[in-house]
Amino acid sequence: MKAVRRFFSSFLLFELLRGMALTGRHLFARKITVQFPEEKTPQSVRFRGLHALRRYPNGEERCIACKLCEAVCPAMAITIESELRDDGTRRTTRYDIDLSKCIFCGLCEESCPVDSIVETHIFEYHAEKRSELYYNKQQLLAIGDKYEAEIAAARAQDAKYR
Ligand code: SF4
Ligand code: SF4
Repeated sequence: MKAVRRFFSSFLLFELLRGMALTGRHLFARKITVQFPEEKTPQSVRFRGLHALRRYPNGEERCIACKLCEAVCPAMAITIESELRDDGTRRTTRYDIDLSKCIFCGLCEESCPVDSIVETHIFEYHAEKRSELYYNKQQLLAIGDKYEAEIAAARAQDAKYR
């Protein structure tokens, strides 16, 4: 019986008509296509995007090279080398993040005692070569410098929910 029903269903192009009816219903429905990049969809306050290294207002790097972020990173995407400065403070000589390994879990940000490494709301970046996803300290500091106002505002907002 099922086979007969299937035969007549395909013979009378019933599936085709059902498909066209569905297309017709959506033809006049309100469009939800977003014209990116002119239009953007709302973003969660908890979105984790491109990383940045921050500085204090006096320009000093926040990072004290404690390596907690490197230790906690489940993807082993962070590589840090450090040295002691003449004034006795410890700072990184190398801070790399391999974004091709990163899973954007946010653990590096959570573990940082001085709010140095953060994940911004930036998602509009791309790479054409794998090596371009390897961000070094200077690049991460430059992102932090460029977006510091936005990062500070986001951190203040986050603090309200903690
Ligand atoms: S977001 Fe997660 S995976 Fe990416 S660098 Fe930080 S700790 Fe590692
Ligand atoms: S970014 Fe933060 S957690 Fe990572 S080494 Fe620097 S101070 Fe430590």
